[in-house]
Amino acid sequence: MSLYVIQSAQEAKLVTSQVVLTMDRTLASEYGGSLFVGFAACAPKLIPDPLYRFFLCPSVEAKEHMPVAAPAGTRKMEAALSEAGIDVVVAHPEHLEEVIGRETKVVGITSNDPRGFGPASSTFSSLLERKTFSALFFEQTVGKVREILDSNGGGKLIVGGPGAWQLEDEEVLDRYGIDCVIIGEGEITGVEIVKRALRGEPIPRVVHGEMVPLERIPNIKHRTIGGLIEISRGCGRGCRFCLPNLKFLRSRPLHQILEEVKINLREGSEGVCLHAEDVLRYGAKGPIPDEAKVIQLFEQVSKLTPHVWISHFAFASVACRPDLIRKITELLDERGSEAPWYSGQVGIETASPELVRRYMPGKPLPFKPEEWSEVVIRAHEILAENRWVPCSTLISGLPGETPKDVELTIELVEKLRGFKSLIVPLFFVPIGQLSGGQFFLKEHMLPEHWKLLATCMEHDFKWTPKLAEEHLHNRIQKFFVKEVVLRSFRHQLKGPLRLMKEGIDPTKEVSPAPISRLAPVEA
Ligand code: SF4
Repeated sequence: MSLYVIQSAQEAKLVTSQVVLTMDRTLASEYGGSLFVGFAACAPKLIPDPLYRFFLCPSVEAKEHMPVAAPAGTRKMEAALSEAGIDVVVAHPEHLEEVIGRETKVVGITSNDPRGFGPASSTFSSLLERKTFSALFFEQTVGKVREILDSNGGGKLIVGGPGAWQLEDEEVLDRYGIDCVIIGEGEITGVEIVKRALRGEPIPRVVHGEMVPLERIPNIKHRTIGGLIEISRGCGRGCRFCLPNLKFLRSRPLHQILEEVKINLREGSEGVCLHAEDVLRYGAKGPIPDEAKVIQLFEQVSKLTPHVWISHFAFASVACRPDLIRKITELLDERGSEAPWYSGQVGIETASPELVRRYMPGKPLPFKPEEWSEVVIRAHEILAENRWVPCSTLISGLPGETPKDVELTIELVEKLRGFKSLIVPLFFVPIGQLSGGQFFLKEHMLPEHWKLLATCMEHDFKWTPKLAEEHLHNRIQKFFVKEVVLRSFRHQLKGPLRLMKEGIDPTKEVSPAPISRLAPVEA
């Protein structure tokens, strides 16, 4: 990285580099300390940009035009490029003009959801017929980067990140001015592509990243958003609707994880979030958690900080090792975490044994597909006993789903009403082994799907005010979420909810407050 002064109107100090990495603005926020609020990026634009930016998605601080924290994926690429001897800098998305200079040959953008096609986004935008913040902000960032590169004589624009699969379409790449999209893991393939671009060689439009072996996953060099630390990569449960790069579970060595914890804390993170598709299977060789490895992980990490959060876990892991949740909770409590509750994202997807058997036979393991609903309920009991709050997802519209399948899921959600939790119903997105299939859209919803949606909304309306009260630290954000966002949602969705409970599409019915009229702001 080089530092020099340019003669501009502001005499701004330019921090530039041959390779600049950045992210769309929805990823440059720690959401006021609550990554739950980060889900708002998947929401359709129902409130004006400035309100979203200020209350829900406040920007991370920029120092010398660089964000003090960046997405974990961006940090991994920064580390991989720098270890390959490439001159790289991470730029704050609101400071691109100050960072992308004449010597910049490549700009890489990380995106989670560039077109709003992710399961959560496509569900909400299909229902409310509005683009999501994630898609709108990606368009702004990619447009800005293209413009700056062109004004500086050109340069290659490469996009990667968990949402890169949404860009696998040449027409879309042309429209955005993207030269290359890297789908999957980037530390080997991404570095090769960047090297080629720097040598002035042609690069492919779409490339699938090679799976990175453990020894080649680099340690991050700087702080990540939310103190997120990757403890394992991949999953191994093999659901057919999941991303292919999650096929094999690879757990990172403890000493590397601890090193990344230290880096985050040294650079100002308040705690760390351990990330894996199932944190409870850190170090496991199969579907059953290796208790000793998980406890050792939490013990060592919590010696460095009492504030340890987790990103995802699995109900089957909870149900087959109930003592593990108790031990982790006691350990974190003893270390002084002071958390009102612990939480993480987790997938229910469906309660239909037939669909479980067909699409996710590995998910209930070591239990059987026909035991799945019981596993989910038992896991909720164990979690509730230990102050854990699951944030679960459901999938509507798996190919071949029948009304009876949806009714089984409704019954399960009703049984979960008493457990403090969130349940987010998502639409099926054709990825993984099911790619090439049809997206599930509002038009495809059966009356049972509307009833399921209503059941989930009632569940979430019951618990969100309490969760917001207990979880949000920032008083302004708490007020805005509770008194503005939740209150207005409740009020505006009252009429549609009544219709949905009867299995009626409220967007077609004339009612006091149909969903299609809820959006005051045009995207
Ligand atoms: S359990 Fe989750 S992460 Fe694992 S394969 Fe299934 S959907 Fe993917």
